[in-house]
Amino acid sequence: PNDQPEPDAAKKTLVILGTGWGAVSLLKKLDTENYNVIVVSPRNYFLFTPLLPSCTTGTIEHRSIMEPIRNFLRHKKASVKYYEAEATKIDYEKRVVYINDDSEIKGDISSTEVPFDMLVVGVGAENATFGIPGVRENGLFLKEVSDAQRIRKRIMDCVETATFKDQSPDEVKRLLHMVVVGGGPTGVEFAGELQDFFNNDLKKWIPDIKDTFHVTLVEALPNVLPMFSKQLIDYTEKTFKEETITIRTKTMVKNVTEKYIEAEAVGPDGKKQLEKIPYGLLVWATGNALRPVVKDFINQIPAQKDSRRGLAVNEYLVVKGTENVWAIGDCAVANYAPTAQVAAQEGNWLARMFNKMAKTHEIESKLAELSVAQEKAPNKETRDRVFEEIKDLQKRLLRLKQIGPFEYTHNGSLAYIGSEKAVADISWLSGNFATGGTITYFFWRSAYLSMCFSTRNRILVVMDWVKSKTFGRDVSRE
Ligand code: FAD
Ligand code: NAD
Repeated sequence: PNDQPEPDAAKKTLVILGTGWGAVSLLKKLDTENYNVIVVSPRNYFLFTPLLPSCTTGTIEHRSIMEPIRNFLRHKKASVKYYEAEATKIDYEKRVVYINDDSEIKGDISSTEVPFDMLVVGVGAENATFGIPGVRENGLFLKEVSDAQRIRKRIMDCVETATFKDQSPDEVKRLLHMVVVGGGPTGVEFAGELQDFFNNDLKKWIPDIKDTFHVTLVEALPNVLPMFSKQLIDYTEKTFKEETITIRTKTMVKNVTEKYIEAEAVGPDGKKQLEKIPYGLLVWATGNALRPVVKDFINQIPAQKDSRRGLAVNEYLVVKGTENVWAIGDCAVANYAPTAQVAAQEGNWLARMFNKMAKTHEIESKLAELSVAQEKAPNKETRDRVFEEIKDLQKRLLRLKQIGPFEYTHNGSLAYIGSEKAVADISWLSGNFATGGTITYFFWRSAYLSMCFSTRNRILVVMDWVKSKTFGRDVSRE
């Protein structure tokens, strides 16, 4: 029905699940003419997650950090099929993925199956709630564009409701209490962005709230940003204090209701006590959990029986206990943190490996042809020529087959902490250094700009920064 060619029977079908950091990095580097490539993802765009916290307050508009998957695909040499659908089940025995169109508009067929010869699982992770009651019903996550939009809307809803006629002081205080649970980089960056929004814009536009608006960051561990060095943790905590963001460490949320959270806090005397903390906005950022499709896949493979945090992969990113199934990014466990940096490097590496595998296959077929030609050669001269050709090809094959395992290079950790300050633990020239402050903030900005996947995104992001600096952030509730 469309003008895409039918799959080539001589080529293997490579199915890629996801359009996130891992999958898109793979697609960008993959020589697609070697395989029948099929991409399945419910999201028809790539999302530049590092700048997502900036979308919650309108510093950056969400479309500036989205890149349509069709844009990547149309630049590929051979056509790639994309299906906007969720993979609901991977049947490893049958080598089939079941997919379902979960979007609003559905055709006569909205679920079907996609057979594969090779499969790459890059479906990322879900938000962890640890089964804490009330989180899903009352809290907002920060993972997708829709989450950032919801948060942006709810901030303004809380502000407008707090300034509603005859609201009691206690209720105003509750509505303007912005609580962030989880002191990892997501929680810290969001808290910083929110305080910026208040300091730079809300305070000026709605002076009524200037003494009541308050941001609190709740963390179960003794400090925030556990993956950063001690010096930067201290710097972040000091900056938050100056910014009047309250950090509640050693405070574990146990229950969430519509208007307050219940948390177990460890006091200075070491005693635990349960506390009710009223909130208007609750953002839940306590890390990652397995997606159902990954959980189900784990249950099918005996070698994965101990996998808790994701699909265990070997050093070639092959899912342990399988053949021809690879996993990359947040859904894979290869002893690295679940970051964009890791996912992108895994995707890149896998593309290079697939490209080499295809070349190897091509040379092996050529060698088989040449050995027949050698046998049938009419004279010594031809035989010698073919022999030389075989020798050359064998050398190339040997070189190609020396594919080293995946090795991650850590370039450092960066996080924005608000008030035009960032923290960075950078690995450079075999040394490490930690830095925090305004210069680091400009470094953070330029690093993220250079990491954007397209020039279009880069320009849009810069324009948004200039726009929000010049005119302030938009406080319309939409
Ligand atoms: P994702 O990028 O999450 O992509 C998963 C893809 O799979 C998506 O396209 C999704 O739609 C699709 N999918 C989901 N379910 C299915 C299904 N059933 N079938 C098919 N497809 C499916 N990391 C850094 O290194 N630096 C940062 O500054 C940074 N900032 C971050 C800020 C925020 C707010 C967040 C949430 C994360 C941040 N991260 C950062 C972490 C980083 O975003 C993740 O580690 C990274 O996205 C993982 O890549 P991935 O490809 O595994 O998953
Ligand atoms: P995280 O796992 O890094 O942090 C979650 C935090 O929530 C933990 O510190 C945990 O102790 C706390 N927590 C869990 N349950 C709690 C409870 N009931 N009450 C209070 N606190 C609780 O999660 P994240 O910040 O979403 O990050 C996820 C991944 O994405 C990480 O690998 C991170 O490095 C990466 N990321 C990186 C950046 C960056 O580099 N700038 C930004 C965002 C995310």
